[in-house]
Amino acid sequence: MNPPGNEGHVFYRNPTKHYPTAVRGEGIYIFDSEGKRYLDGSGGAVVVSIGHNVPEIKQAMLDQASAIAFAHGSQFTSKPAEDLAAKLSRLAPPGLERVYYLSGGSEAIETAVKMARQYQVDRGRPAKYKIISRWTSYHGNTLGALALGGHTGRRQYYQPLIQHTPHIAPAYCYRCPYKLTPEKCGLECAEELEQMILYEGPDSVSGFLAEPVVGATAGALVPHPGYFERIREICDRYDVLLMVDEVMTGLGRTGKSFAMEHWGVSPDMIVCAKGLAGGYSPIFCVITREEVHQTIKEGTGHFIHGHTYSQNPLSCSIALAVLDYIETHDLVRRSAARGEYLLRRLESLYKHPIVGDVRGLGLFAGVEMVQDRSSRRPFDPALKLAQHMSNRAFQNGLIIYPGSGGADGIHGDHLLIAPPFIISEEEIDELVSLLDASIAETTEELGL
Ligand code: PLP
Repeated sequence: MNPPGNEGHVFYRNPTKHYPTAVRGEGIYIFDSEGKRYLDGSGGAVVVSIGHNVPEIKQAMLDQASAIAFAHGSQFTSKPAEDLAAKLSRLAPPGLERVYYLSGGSEAIETAVKMARQYQVDRGRPAKYKIISRWTSYHGNTLGALALGGHTGRRQYYQPLIQHTPHIAPAYCYRCPYKLTPEKCGLECAEELEQMILYEGPDSVSGFLAEPVVGATAGALVPHPGYFERIREICDRYDVLLMVDEVMTGLGRTGKSFAMEHWGVSPDMIVCAKGLAGGYSPIFCVITREEVHQTIKEGTGHFIHGHTYSQNPLSCSIALAVLDYIETHDLVRRSAARGEYLLRRLESLYKHPIVGDVRGLGLFAGVEMVQDRSSRRPFDPALKLAQHMSNRAFQNGLIIYPGSGGADGIHGDHLLIAPPFIISEEEIDELVSLLDASIAETTEELGL
């Protein structure tokens, strides 16, 4: 329920929906003002990594707030900002050692694009400005990030306002854009990058941006082995920066600190991550090579950019405490192990004929629904199947993250499952049994 007397002033995402009031979090659970308990099976929108209400984080907040919460990044640095950057550069793939802080994912994506551009100008390649990205991707809702994303539903109203940028096909094995099976895969979708660079003109291309494992727009799309290795080769061949969006996947979600570690590929920039402060503070960052930093330092002399809350000591100290907690409790390894268990348990959902594909990496899993398993035909989008299923799960006390449009921008329904890393096997069983019941009930309700 909304707080009595104060209703009616919040501009909600969906003004037609009733939102329960969250009053407390504990571990993997959220409680509302009516006392109802929800298992946070997607960490909100793949944010909560170490669970809710962790005492060590509260203490770090209190300590830093008692010292200093805010000092503007154009005037001061702080110990938490320095320590966090040092820690992130240790966790990141080799060579990535400079950290630029932001307070949102879209902001961080646009920062990476501008950083790449300024780098190209400062190294004497001023013609390089284009960023190639992929269809069936999500990089944020601000206009620049929306232009790079490839989700028709989120783009269509704003189309006149967004810049046209080149997109290539996604690495979507279940719906291979080249109609191949994994056994016949020759990494055609990776080769498409070379083709696009040639069409656009290598001298004009600054970077290639992709999520290592696609999240919101398709439900945990894990690329075919060799995909990012080939992408790296192509980027190197044409002097194009490889920029990866680890906003969902970064800092343990896939069972590695960064998802790119699964393929041993070192990108030029990483945008990260919802899990950086695990929901305790809005902090994101871009991690890049020293060479990018040095080129801008020796060129223009400063990065022509900046945001008010970048680098604030309070958020940095909270993120540092979250990363310490992950390390102390070995949660990245746990995410990998629990992820394997989760995927095994989710496979039991194949008993529902509408479950077409179950996939994932670490504690980042997706379930895609289809009308017909053999043709993989998606449902009519008017049904809003994924949304229905997620609503039903919510009523049943389970939070999951629904999405649509994965198949072709319009059609396609999937669910993202991404619980906090602290989840136990028994709690995974509880999650899967709630999901199982929610799928069964939705199937019956919609007469599928
Ligand atoms: N990139 C990816 C991969 C995301 O999943 C998201 C958000 O879901 C964003 C960028 C945008 O982040 P924010 O919502 O903080 O702007």
